[in-house]
Amino acid sequence: MAILLGSIADDYTGASDLANTLTKNGLRTVQTVGIPDPSLALPDVDAVVVSLKIRSVPASDAVAAAASAERWLRQRGAGHVLYKICSTFDSTDAGNIGPVTEALSEAAGGGSVLVTPAFPETGRTVYLGHLFVGGQPLNESPLKDHPLNPMHDANLVRVLARQSRNAVGLVDLTAIAAGAGAVKARLDALRAAGVTAVIADAIFERDLETLGEVALKTPVSTGASGLGLGLARALVRSGLISSGGATTADAIRPVGGLSAIVAGSCSKATLHQLDVAERSMPVLRLDPERLLAGPDEIAAAISWAGDRISAGPVVIAASAVPETVSRLQSLHGREASGHAIETATSIIAAELVEKGVRRLVVAGGETSGAAVDRLAIPAFLIGPEIAPGVPVLRTVGNAQGDMLLALKSGNFGGEDFFTAALAMMH
Ligand code: ADP
Repeated sequence: MAILLGSIADDYTGASDLANTLTKNGLRTVQTVGIPDPSLALPDVDAVVVSLKIRSVPASDAVAAAASAERWLRQRGAGHVLYKICSTFDSTDAGNIGPVTEALSEAAGGGSVLVTPAFPETGRTVYLGHLFVGGQPLNESPLKDHPLNPMHDANLVRVLARQSRNAVGLVDLTAIAAGAGAVKARLDALRAAGVTAVIADAIFERDLETLGEVALKTPVSTGASGLGLGLARALVRSGLISSGGATTADAIRPVGGLSAIVAGSCSKATLHQLDVAERSMPVLRLDPERLLAGPDEIAAAISWAGDRISAGPVVIAASAVPETVSRLQSLHGREASGHAIETATSIIAAELVEKGVRRLVVAGGETSGAAVDRLAIPAFLIGPEIAPGVPVLRTVGNAQGDMLLALKSGNFGGEDFFTAALAMMH
C-alpha cells in the first residue's frame, strides 16, 4: 500500500507533534525514529513522518540526510513530501530551511515550494510574510534570545532569502482568501520568474486548508504542523484516504505483558502526577546522587520492581523538586547530571522491557528520547490521544514484539495522567 503523504521532520519533538496533528486530522500515521531500514515493514498507513535531528547541524549534512529520507519516502509512494520545520522558523542565515527546501525541490524536478510556519492553534500566524508569535512579531518574541537560533527578523521573505540560492517570493493573504485557484496562479507566476521558495501567509486554519489543497498538487512543501493540518484535511476531502478518516482503534490493540512508568521530568505537573500515582501504585523515588555514583542504584531499582511488577504497574522516578535538582546541578554541572540521569532512566526502561514490560509510560521529553534510543524502537503508529498532545504509540518493527508507549513532555497531562494512560493500554 503506497503512502500518500511523506514528511521529513527536522527534530524529534516536532515530528511527534506533526504525526499527532496528522492523525487527529484523519490520516493513519507512522513516525519513524531516524531514516528507517529499507526492510522496515509498514502497516497500512496514509502518512509517514521521518524524524531527523537536522535543525541545527551544518546545512550540507541537513541536505544529505533530508535527501535520503526523501528517497525512502518516494520509494514508498509518497506523492507529496512536507519538510517539517519549527513554527518559529528556527534557523540561521547559514540554513537549514532554505538549502533543504531548494534541494528537495530540485530532487523533485524543480518548481516552486510553499513555505509557511503558521500554526494558529499555537498562536503562530504569518501576515505579509511576517511571523507573529502570539501577539508579538518574531523578533520581539522570546525567540530573539534563543540560545541556538536567535531570531532577529520577523520578515520571513528576507530571512529565507539570506539562506537560499534562488529568489524568495510571497503569496499574501489576499491571494489565499481568493482561493486555491488564485494561489496556484501566483505560484505559477513566481515559478516562471525563477523563484523556488514562496512564503505563504496564513492566519486561520481555513488559510492552511487552502494552502494544503494547492501544495498537494506540488511535490514538496515546507511548514510546521499547521501546514500538516492543511495537507491532511485536503487529503481527506479528496477521498483518497484508505482508512476513510482516522482509525486509531487498531493502534491500541492489546499487547499484554507487564506495565511500568519511568519518570525523569522534574516539571511541576509531573511531580504532582507522581504524588497522585502514589495513592494507587508502588512508586520508587530514585536517589539522584546514588544514580550518578554508579550502577548500584539501577540494580536496586530493578530488583525493587522485580518483587512487585507482576502484581500491577510500578513507577520508578528520578524526578525531584527544584532545590534537589539545583543542588545536584551545582555539584556535577547541569548538562552532565541531566545526561547521566537520562542514561540511568533509559537503562531502567530497557531492563524493565527485558523483564516483560510491554506497556510503558515515560515522563519527560529528553527522558523519552533517551529511552526510545536505548530500546532501539524503529517507528511508531500514532494512536488516540490520552491528553492533548500525548497520543498512545504502538511500536512498528520492534525487536521485542509490539509495545504500547506514552511519551509525555514534562508539563503535559492532567493529575491522573498515569492511570489515564494505562487505562488505554492493555
Ligand atoms: P521535561 O519534559 O519536563 O523537560 P526532560 O526529560 O526533557 O523533562 O528533562 C528533565 C531533565 O532532568 C533530564 O535531563 C533528566 O535526566 C534530568 N533529571 C531528572 N531527575 C533529576 C534530578 N533528580 N536531578 C537533576 N536532574 C534530573
